[in-house]
Amino acid sequence: MLPDDVVFTCQQSGACCRNDWLIGVDEPARARLEAVDWTRLQPPLPPGPKFRPLPFALPGGERATFTRRADGACVFLEPNERCGIHTRLGAGAKPQVCREFPYSFVETPDGVAVGLSFACTAVRAHQGRALSEQQPEIREVLAGSTRVRRLPDPLVLYASVDITWAQYCAIEAALLALLAHEECTLPTALLAGSVLISLCVGLSQVEAMAEREGRAPTETLLGGLAQLATDRYRKVIEVAARARAPHRPRLTALAPLYTWLEFSRRRPSRVGLVLALYRNFFRFRRGRGRLPDWITGGPPFDIAEVQAIAFDATDPAVSAFLREYWRHVVFRKTLTPLHGVFRGYQTMLALYAFTKWAAKLTARRRGRSRVTLDDARDAVRLIEQRFVLHARFADVFTLSPVLTLMADRLFRDPAFVRGAVLEP
Ligand code: SF4
Repeated sequence: MLPDDVVFTCQQSGACCRNDWLIGVDEPARARLEAVDWTRLQPPLPPGPKFRPLPFALPGGERATFTRRADGACVFLEPNERCGIHTRLGAGAKPQVCREFPYSFVETPDGVAVGLSFACTAVRAHQGRALSEQQPEIREVLAGSTRVRRLPDPLVLYASVDITWAQYCAIEAALLALLAHEECTLPTALLAGSVLISLCVGLSQVEAMAEREGRAPTETLLGGLAQLATDRYRKVIEVAARARAPHRPRLTALAPLYTWLEFSRRRPSRVGLVLALYRNFFRFRRGRGRLPDWITGGPPFDIAEVQAIAFDATDPAVSAFLREYWRHVVFRKTLTPLHGVFRGYQTMLALYAFTKWAAKLTARRRGRSRVTLDDARDAVRLIEQRFVLHARFADVFTLSPVLTLMADRLFRDPAFVRGAVLEP
């Protein structure tokens, strides 16, 4: 299952080989590549260790990574930004992790959904060929992948309300249609998606009650979605278009996300993490106060200064890019079915708010008073790397039922939805 609105062809920027993330190398690839005498190949590579062991296993089970050069790049990355393994031994000799990036795979009842990572520079800049033109190459990468995710079983809509794959597909199609809807702005489309999911929860509860009482339901989830589709979701769009931002800025939802970012950057102790959460919570709630910069790595900043930077969600370039990204997040099934469609979607809205905020801080660092497409692209890269595709942020919901309850309380608050989406 290939998406038709994202493209990718490697532009050899080398960005993914010099990133600040750990690239895990599987054991067979490490053993195979360590047996190569790189000093004898043409052109030779300097002697020295090419891999270093990790003190822990990565989520994919890898226990080694590439040695880095002083500038942070992989030891195999050459001055012309080409991979030293690829140029000497061919693409097939690279470890699977390098062959697989930026693809992601999710097995579904209808086939494998192929996604792309927006941590990739080419994907973010929409450079390359359509995936439909690259089927043989993608199939080859998929065949060697050990990272094909499976959908959760059962698929959960909300709390203990389960849905079938067919029902999930209908919800996904509606969300994608809303995010592509040319008659509504991106914020209205995001709000309409939230209204739509709440409606689906209600319809599924009506359906479940009828089933318990042994009678035919008056409404069904699939029937309701089909009705909405007939007038191109106008009813939910109308409800969404009436929403207004809360009177006071509501930034508290950013606090747990900022704390997670801090955790992913420097791994503080458990006590340090709790203290950081409290500090961030109170500062974001007040909308002012200094914070260390875990986004750009710059000096500490004041929250109020970041708030003063303008984010215009109707800017055509920014809006088109963010629509492409969030549509792809839904298509890729990265968030939506993970801990229930409702929770996944509301998490997506919180991350949208964080994207805006990270873009504002980036713009400020660049001396701008308003966010541009470049700032938005950098913010999405951060979101993708630290929260969505390459991170275990979604596991937060499995840590403790208390955290889940707190998140659900926040997510059910209509002011959270309006604040996350409409806060400028
Ligand atoms: S091995 Fe090659 S593709 Fe993989 S990170 Fe190093 S330079 Fe990049």
